[in-house]
Amino acid sequence: MSIPPLQIDNIAFAKRGEHLTGDLSLADCSRLVELLASQAPILQGGSVDVDTLSSINHTDDNIHFTLDGETNAVGQHFLHLSLASSLTTYCQRCLEPMPVKLSLSFHYQIIDTNAKHSELDVVEDSDDFDIQEANQSMDLVALIEDEIIMATPIAPTHTHDCAVASMQSGEKPNPFAVLKGFIKL
Ligand SMILES: [Zn+2]
Repeated sequence: MSIPPLQIDNIAFAKRGEHLTGDLSLADCSRLVELLASQAPILQGGSVDVDTLSSINHTDDNIHFTLDGETNAVGQHFLHLSLASSLTTYCQRCLEPMPVKLSLSFHYQIIDTNAKHSELDVVEDSDDFDIQEANQSMDLVALIEDEIIMATPIAPTHTHDCAVASMQSGEKPNPFAVLKGFIKL
């Protein structure tokens, strides 16, 4: 799949009510690759080089995004971003590879700081909106990467008690062993 143009004029995008969807690979997101690599047990405490990073199996990793522009009746500009990512990191308890799936949505209001009375234009309930400055070449990849980095757990662990489970494996009694004594040939 080809990557769509990812530098957008955010005000124009909102004015035209545009819609953009696509997928990023980890190759587009070097800072995110570094974060995931820092959680890999083989790299912890060691030096990280490019060959080692690319040797980590991230072939199933994917970041899908949808961006919608909106301009409301009073001329306020908005971007709505949805992200669905599936990334491979490492459980910090058992050190096995572990998928982390994120489903995120963000709402931004675009503020043109050069426009007069711009501060009056901020929506009242701004808790629901992050602010993006008007930008004719807003870097969408950097924005998506930032949001995913912030949402990725710093010390991810399996939800089940994986360390205990791996210690006990092998000691589990074979349920058929009990029956053996009853079988007569
Ligand atoms: Zn684990």
